[in-house]
Amino acid sequence: MTAPSPPLRKPPIDGAADVLRVHGYAALAPGPRLVVLGGVHGNETCGTAGIERIVARLDSGALQLLCGELTMVPVANPLARRQHTREGQRNLNRLFQPTPAGVTPFDYEARITDRLCPLLARHEVLLDLHSFQSAGEAFAMIGPRDNDGPLEPFARAVEEGRLALHLGTPRVVEGWLDIYAAGMTQRGQPLTDAALAFGWGTNEYMRSRGGYGVTLECGQHDDPAAPDVAEAAILATLRLLGMVAADPSQAPPAQPALLRLVSVTDRDDVGDQFVREWATFDAVAEGEPIGVRADGRMLRAERDGFIVFPNDEALPGTEWFYFAVASERRL
Ligand SMILES: [Zn+2]
Repeated sequence: MTAPSPPLRKPPIDGAADVLRVHGYAALAPGPRLVVLGGVHGNETCGTAGIERIVARLDSGALQLLCGELTMVPVANPLARRQHTREGQRNLNRLFQPTPAGVTPFDYEARITDRLCPLLARHEVLLDLHSFQSAGEAFAMIGPRDNDGPLEPFARAVEEGRLALHLGTPRVVEGWLDIYAAGMTQRGQPLTDAALAFGWGTNEYMRSRGGYGVTLECGQHDDPAAPDVAEAAILATLRLLGMVAADPSQAPPAQPALLRLVSVTDRDDVGDQFVREWATFDAVAEGEPIGVRADGRMLRAERDGFIVFPNDEALPGTEWFYFAVASERRL
């Protein structure tokens, strides 16, 4: 006779006692509903700092909310922030959908997502504040153009583009989910709803709920100017939406360079190496060498364009770099 096996115990979830801090301001006059997130990735602190400055200005009366609702979450992933890492147990900005009813959230980020989704869903505009690893200038990311296709139907591209325009970055990048899906197809992964859901971040969820959202990459993680970029972006959004007084001295925004993601290339082998150190938005001409595969095959630019999110430490089978081209879209 064998002894009964001990009951299965789930490992404790770190940070299960965490509390999300949410700053909410509701003007008596109705108006737009804006939600601002900082710290979706724990080592990205500029959004937190920018939000705290706006909270201080609102609380002191230096800034007055004229209409609508403003909600700000300075640290969206407290576990990742405590660790000062990008992720807690995984990337909060993937699989951003509520856990189905009756199912136990499977990790820490799922618990946060379950809190944030209903919060986002009662707003119509999302500004998600991030920073990045490599050197470079701030840029904004927007979603698809208006479409009624199966992947990401959308009807608010004009408003979303206008918001990105007013954030004032020199570059705006469009097209994420379709390239994510193309990458899955390249890897031979079936495009099931569940698999595609992994590509969903905060913005994709927001769009699925009838709203729109822009991700602002405010600069390098430790750039002392990044909190200024974050603060200015919140203010610019509030002004654009008419939620705070306009600044009459402000010049109209200049058209940014708009780039459209067109492909993703996976690193297949640790022997795959770039021919040089690339930075995001480095321009390449058609035929220019980008990297060398482990078997010696040269990888060249498919057309004139730009290297985006190069990752020379990518694990085999994951994204090595994205490729973007100049977009004809105007914001
Ligand atoms: Zn980030």
